[in-house]
Amino acid sequence: MSYHRTSYVCGPYRMTAPSTSDLKRRRRQLLHKLPPLDAVLRGSLIERYKRCGNPNCKCAAGPGHGPKFYLSVSYPGRSPQMDYVPQADYAQISERVANYTLVREILEEISEINHELLRRRGRRGAAAC
Ligand SMILES: [Zn+2]
Repeated sequence: MSYHRTSYVCGPYRMTAPSTSDLKRRRRQLLHKLPPLDAVLRGSLIERYKRCGNPNCKCAAGPGHGPKFYLSVSYPGRSPQMDYVPQADYAQISERVANYTLVREILEEISEINHELLRRRGRRGAAAC
């Protein structure tokens, strides 16, 4: 296993140098952390306050009525789409938005582990840096 010790100079894991079985264990843990894939939503929640325009309303002195929440979803080459999120749906929608970010982070980390495993395969028997 001595080649592991010297091969980290060119990988993303050069400081921590986890073993191959550590990486595979981490990959399994990541799979277990995946949120349900039917509960993801790409976008960001935006908080809005609105003044009603009545100068005698208490909102005239503050930020306005609200908060009201909107989901903003961006698309390449188009302006973002905004949809109103009723208060009753806020908790569920915000969880789905968080799930989406989490899924992406988990996929990225699993992909990096697989990338590192590929590098180790290529290095077997030769210094591939
Ligand atoms: Zn008002």
